[in-house]
Amino acid sequence: MTPPDRRTVYLDHAATTPMLPSAIEAMTYHLTRTGNASSLHGSGRCARRTVEEARESLAASLGAQPSEIVFTSGGTEADNLALKGLWWSRLAADPRRRRILLSGIEHHAVLDPAIWLARHEGAEIEWLTVDELGRVSPDDVREAVEREPESVSFVTLMMANNEVGTLQPVADVAAIAREHGIPVHTDAVQAIGQVPVDFAELGVDAMTVSAHKLGGPYGVGALVVHKETQLTPILHGGGQERDVRSGTLDVPATAAFAVAAEHAVKHQADEALRLTELRDLLVAGITGTIEGALLSGDPVDRLPNNAHLSFSDCEGDSLLLLLDARGIEVSTGSACNAGVAEPSHVLLAMGYDDQRARGSLRFTLGHTSTRADIDAVLEAIGPVVDRAKSAGLQNVGRNT
Ligand code: PLP
Repeated sequence: MTPPDRRTVYLDHAATTPMLPSAIEAMTYHLTRTGNASSLHGSGRCARRTVEEARESLAASLGAQPSEIVFTSGGTEADNLALKGLWWSRLAADPRRRRILLSGIEHHAVLDPAIWLARHEGAEIEWLTVDELGRVSPDDVREAVEREPESVSFVTLMMANNEVGTLQPVADVAAIAREHGIPVHTDAVQAIGQVPVDFAELGVDAMTVSAHKLGGPYGVGALVVHKETQLTPILHGGGQERDVRSGTLDVPATAAFAVAAEHAVKHQADEALRLTELRDLLVAGITGTIEGALLSGDPVDRLPNNAHLSFSDCEGDSLLLLLDARGIEVSTGSACNAGVAEPSHVLLAMGYDDQRARGSLRFTLGHTSTRADIDAVLEAIGPVVDRAKSAGLQNVGRNT
């Protein structure tokens, strides 16, 4: 028997957001065509034209030059290319450059390559602390840089945190680093389409973007690299993307990526207003009725689509599963290692204790979100929290 049709309330747009109809149309059209963008015949030249038009359009959406766009397989690859590429090119020019400055709240796609460079290549990681709202202080960056500028490889600081939504002072940090000729990378995966992002105005050397977070397809992204910034390639092969990133280009995906980015950037201001209003209703509705529920992250300088809340005396995982059973899809925001839920490294870096970090839920809104979604959460959250609390108490009883 087919189960009754149930409308899913999808509030996990930071994990991935549905593709925009115009992006699906572009992708579908180009999937029906053949041509390797490196081939010299007519079909190849057609594919090349599609890629170059996508590059121009994406560059215009991001405030960059077309020659600064390096297409990748997504945000993770772009972050790896930025960190490893900057590391090896900076070290080749001066072997003293071994310090990587980064915050403890970066996404794993940034954290893990940095830790890999420390384990395998002799990098020295210098952690930038964050306050209880998840903010890095430009003064701390200045202090770390000016202590010994000649030993800094690069600085990396995300534009917006993917868990708690806090925005970071990336332009200020880039200005400080620039005084000493030190490159800055920013992971802007969660920021594009949510807040204004202009690569040239930011003044960074490299910026990571991912298509599936802004209405484009999975498996495509870009690293925007300033024209004077040197990067050592990490993928070797056919020499595509100016030798920085070898591999046959995914023509349909790049076309759809550019269409989605153009749409997301064009509608950013209106969507930010709409989503802020819905988000604020959600936050007020939860914190006003659930005892001990608190908003995490910066209450003002935050992504318009992000509501990250911590609940007392219950596990985020229980809340997630109980909401899921009611057709409401959210996230705890934290990693799950081998089936064991770990408290989020972001919340621990912000000074949360283990219990509060474990009792967290992330609601992220997007272009399909409506007032009905918020109402559904507000109706469900009270009974769900009560059940999660009693489940927690039963577990405590069983363990002791
Ligand atoms: N950086 C941030 C801040 C993210 O949120 C994500 C995805 O969750 C990534 C990088 C990885 O991007 P992708 O899924 O395209 O590899």
